This record gives sequence, structure tokens and C-alpha cells, in this order.
Amino acid sequence: MKASEATQLYFENAADKVDLDDRMMKLLLAAKREVQVQVAVELDNGEIETLVGYRVQHDNSRGPMKGGLRFHPDVDLDEVRSLAALMTWKCAVVNLPYGGAKGGICVDPKKLSHKELERVTRKFVDQIHDIFGPHTDIPAPDMGTNHEIMSWIRNQWEKYHGFNPACVTGKPVEHYGAEGREEATGRGVGILAFKLLGRLGRKPKDTRVAIQGFGNVGMHAAKFLHEADFKVVAISDVSGAYYRPEGIDVAKALHYSLNHGRSLTGFEEAERISNTELIGLNVEMLIPAALGGVITMDNVNQIRANIILEGANGPIHPDADRILNERGVTILPDIVANAGGVTVSYFEWVQNLQHYKWGLNRVRQELDHVLTQAFDQVWQEANDRQVSLRTAAYVIAIRRVHRATVLAGI
Ligand code: NAD
Repeated sequence: MKASEATQLYFENAADKVDLDDRMMKLLLAAKREVQVQVAVELDNGEIETLVGYRVQHDNSRGPMKGGLRFHPDVDLDEVRSLAALMTWKCAVVNLPYGGAKGGICVDPKKLSHKELERVTRKFVDQIHDIFGPHTDIPAPDMGTNHEIMSWIRNQWEKYHGFNPACVTGKPVEHYGAEGREEATGRGVGILAFKLLGRLGRKPKDTRVAIQGFGNVGMHAAKFLHEADFKVVAISDVSGAYYRPEGIDVAKALHYSLNHGRSLTGFEEAERISNTELIGLNVEMLIPAALGGVITMDNVNQIRANIILEGANGPIHPDADRILNERGVTILPDIVANAGGVTVSYFEWVQNLQHYKWGLNRVRQELDHVLTQAFDQVWQEANDRQVSLRTAAYVIAIRRVHRATVLAGI
């Protein structure tokens, strides 16, 4: 199944409950604009490399569109399309005044030099600068992109349109970025894990957690959960997984990874296991925070956790999702669980438009407020309708986008 088909299936399951007619469903599912561009750049050795870049703008009925830029060899139109729609539902469920978009370039950024990466980024902006900006579509970092790349994007965009740092978010703090943006998604996963546990009547100290991925999301989620007294027993990255039943010293793991090029290779404070084994560990909570599509029909029966928080986008295949639901596993879906990042991106945009900077405490407080409100609404909807948290989240999101579309007039 393609990534976009999975998102569509989750949408359709929820749309059934909102009584959308077929025409409205078609309207809400289709992207407003899909752009594919050629990104031709000169490499350091003088050769020309031709890459393909995408920007999909899914829906703008609730405000300018918002979504990350991914630099990864698996990027294709279908993936970008699916992630753009996911952004529409994510912004709607947490009630940010945004629609959804996504973009990316099919490239392995690790194979490019720093200068090549900058040239690729600037060339991509040259190709799409007229379709994004502070009031139309605001890009942000995603896999393979970071705050430095966002700075290049801003600088290149401003060459055409003049000063306006709100044209992109996820910028460095000293360059019109927001305090707390880097930690926001992982922190949000942590805040929501805490809220979810409260609703389930459980305690952090009795909750063993396994986290797949120790990048931006996984690392900050691990830090927050460890500090909140959860027992983080396993972490992992592309080098493999690291397991310690008594609990990982997360501060040591963070220090190790940050001092080894963001890699856990050679981390000796825990037993080395495989990423496949991590998925099936005897834990209460599993947090996939790396790639999409990691929980499928092939490994769903190995899962022993009864709570899953989707730190990554689309980590569970719909067939596996159905089986987990039948087994009574509580799943907090991506559109809620990892919404902390876009929420603080929104705060960054607000600060840029107002030329007024908030401190870290304010950012953290407002993040807590936005996520708690969204979580409480999703929990209530799920209980009222006796549906999964995923269906409840989509129901709320679809209702809001539908209403905005109708109010605006088609
Ligand atoms: P990242 O590039 O910072 O980190 C990814 C991590 O996953 C790294 O530790 C990497 O080693 C690991 N990884 C890669 N392949 C793996 C594999 N096969 N098995 C196990 N680990 C593997 O990316 P990120 O920003 O942390 O994003 C992770 C996920 O979260 C993505 O799905 C992304 O779309 C989603 N997400 C990120 C944000 C954000 O603000 N960064 C916001 C919302 C959603």
C-alpha cells in the first residue's frame, strides 16, 4: 500500500462518522497544488547532478499552508502528497490556523558536501520561491533538513521578496528562530505520554518505554520521559538498538550521541540488540520516532507494548493498526502525538510577524496548553463515539476543515 493510500484510508474511516458526501470527500482529499521541479546543481568535482524536488500544497481553507521539507533518497511524489494531507489534519486537530503542505528532494544529504547541500537548497528555492511565503505556505525542517538549511531558505527567498523571516520556520534561534523549537516535537511526545498515562490510570515509574530513533524527536522524547520518571529501557538509531532492562542513563546516551556525530554506534552502557528486536520488547510503551511504515503485518504480532505513541509520521500500516486496535492497544496517532513541532513553528511564525521574541518558558507553557487542549478533545471524542484515538482525531480535524471550506464558499 502506498503512503497516500494509508492516509486516505484513515481519512475515509473517520469521514464515515462525519457524514461527508462523496463530493466533499473528493474535495477535501485532493491536493490544491502539486509541484515537481528539476534541481540541477554543480557538484564540487565540476559534474552536474540533476535532482527532483517536490512541494505539495494540500489545503488552505484554515490558513496558510504549513509543512516540512524532507531531504531523503526515498522522497517521491506519493510520499510528499501523503505527508502534505497529514499536515492538514494535524494542524486542524491541534487547532492551528494553518492548512497542510509538504516538500522534499530525493537526495541523500549525507552524500553531499556542506557547500553542495547549500547549492541544492538555494536552487530548490529558486524553483519554488513564488509559491511559498509567510501568507501562503511556510516550510520547516523535516528528516534530513535542519535549522541551517532553513536559514539558507530564508536568505534565498528574501533575495526575491525582501525581508520577512516568517517565510520559513525552524530557523536558528539567533536568526529569528524560536526558543524551544528543536526540542518541541520530542517534548510534545513526552507531554502527551504523560497525559495519556494519567487517563489510563497508570504511573510513569511503572512504565517501561522503548523508543525507535534517536534523532531530533526520539532524543528529546527520551530526555523528557526520563526526567518525568518513566523508565526508558531501549533507544535506537540506524546503527542498531540499545537495551538495558533497569533503564538507560538517557543523559549519558545523549552526551554520547551528540559527541559522536549524532550516532549511538559504540554506545556500551546497554546491550546491543537489533531494531527488529526493539519493536517486540517487553515494555508498556513503544514510541516509533524514526521512519514511516515500521509496524506492519510482518511484525505486528511481536508487539507486546499496550501503548504506542507515533512520534514518526505514519509508522503503522493500516492493517497492523486494525489488529492492534482489536487487541486493545492504545495508539496516540501521529497527527496528535508529534504535533509539538508544528505548534512551536506556529509560535515562531507569530513572533516573526509581530517582531517580538518570547522566552523559553513562555514557549513551553503555550506548547503544553495547545497540546493538552487537543489531547483532551480527542480523548473526549473517542469516548463519546467509542472509536479509536486515531479516528477521533481525524473526525475533529475533518469537521474543522469541512466547516472552514463551507464558510469560505467553494
Ligand atoms: P532525524 O533525522 O533527526 O532522526 C531520525 C532518527 O531515526 C535517527 O536517529 C536515525 O539514525 C534513525 N533511523 C533512521 N533509520 C532508521 C532505522 N531503519 N531504524 C531505526 N532508526 C533509524 O529525524 P526526526 O526529525 O527525529 O524525525 C523522525 C520522524 O519524526 C520522521 O518520521 C519525521 O517525519 C517525524 N517528525 C519530525 C518532526 C520534527 O520536528 N523533527 C515533527 C513531526 C514529525
